[in-house]
Amino acid sequence: MKKTPKVLLVILGCVLFLSLNLITPFLSNAQTDPCFNTIVQADLLYGQAFLDDQNGNRQEADKKRRQAQELYRQCKDPFSTDNIGLINGFTDPAQLSTRGGVYWRLASEGWNDERRLESKIFVPLQKLLESDPGFTPAYSLMIQASQEFERLEEALKASEQAVAMFPFDAEMAKLRIDLLAQDKQWLEASIAARQFAIINEKGIPVEQFNEFTKIADDYFGKFSGDLNSQILVQGILGTVAGFFTGNFESGVINTIGMAQMMISGESGMGASLAAQYKSEYSSENRLIDDPEILAYVDKIGQDVAKLMGRNDFTYEFNVVADEEINAFALPGGKVFINTGAILAAKTEAELAGLIGHEVSHAVLSHGFQRITHSNLLNNLGSVIPFGNFFSTLVTLDYSRSNESQADILGTRALVAHGYAADGLRNFFVTLNEQNGDSPAEYLSTHPATENRISYLEQLIAQNGYNRFAFEGIDEHTQMQEKLKNLS
Ligand SMILES: [Zn+2]
Repeated sequence: MKKTPKVLLVILGCVLFLSLNLITPFLSNAQTDPCFNTIVQADLLYGQAFLDDQNGNRQEADKKRRQAQELYRQCKDPFSTDNIGLINGFTDPAQLSTRGGVYWRLASEGWNDERRLESKIFVPLQKLLESDPGFTPAYSLMIQASQEFERLEEALKASEQAVAMFPFDAEMAKLRIDLLAQDKQWLEASIAARQFAIINEKGIPVEQFNEFTKIADDYFGKFSGDLNSQILVQGILGTVAGFFTGNFESGVINTIGMAQMMISGESGMGASLAAQYKSEYSSENRLIDDPEILAYVDKIGQDVAKLMGRNDFTYEFNVVADEEINAFALPGGKVFINTGAILAAKTEAELAGLIGHEVSHAVLSHGFQRITHSNLLNNLGSVIPFGNFFSTLVTLDYSRSNESQADILGTRALVAHGYAADGLRNFFVTLNEQNGDSPAEYLSTHPATENRISYLEQLIAQNGYNRFAFEGIDEHTQMQEKLKNLS
């Protein structure tokens, strides 16, 4: 029983925060930093403004918020200007590069030619996607052409790339959902639709949000229907696999167990996995039970989670005594945060950024998707060794788009709750700073961090999100002191 949770941790854990073993030097300097008191003062004003708002005293609230913002401004550096993050999509061929223009003309000619010569379409299209990855019509044509020539694999690949690059583009999202459905990947189609709805909830009309949510529900219904009927046909419903009884030791999980776990849905799966983790940590005496610490983390987590639209989950926030800066989320909203991460975050807003990022993974079904993404339905009845099954998941190239989705949604939740919008962005900066002594190792495990800081800056700047808002430094520092005294 001891080994398996570790294996799972590697798979489901947030790949971003692994392997950082440094403990922050921040605490010892906190009170001597002149900005510490300035931010405490600003946080106080911000808190009072919130109360003024609740009492209907709008003017007084605005005044205090402005004063607070002035103080925050004194202590926050401007963003770097060289943004390289999200690519801006465009549809006008006039904006193409010279080469791109030629490829587009050739591909369009090939497509419009009555003979529809395969090579005349695909070769220039592939080159075009490399030279001008922001040109969205190229993805649409690639997907259309792939369908025409029954090159579904390529169509799916192009659509995955498009959705990762343009998470706010409804047309790209629809193309991907249709393709997945055409391939009878009902669960994937459902998740893709829900991801689009959740990420864009604040930016799209409510009708469009409802439309995507309905698509998600419909496809999920199809998925459960298929799964149920296949299991019934094989007459195996009711078999309880080792997974649910907690018997990990056999080292084998059969597909029946996995199928049942899928039917029990994300919440059931997450609850079952979380129980395993908690019993493991608790047997090692590493599950923090201090009520004050737990209440602090739970409040942040619940506040952020309730803004994300998955009310079917029962969110749970656990703290694990581990100095590694790490956190992970299980399906259904079960989150585990290492003490090392709480000690590393400089403010409550940074911690809320990390927690928001993890909650987003659960909300967007990333872990669930990874576990269920297999050819399981075609393989019912065969026995899959546990280790092998999960190792195939590790190699799936989900992480980049998953991570950016979680960064975006996590940051939106910060903003919606009134935290400083750059909480998550600053947590990345903090990670960078703390790793100054061993940049080589850091770079090898976190190649894309600079890029993520950059696109979060872009997201905040473009949307006018307020980064001069609640930081929560005082209580956070007290909790850190308490945590240090616990160990
Ligand atoms: Zn992550």
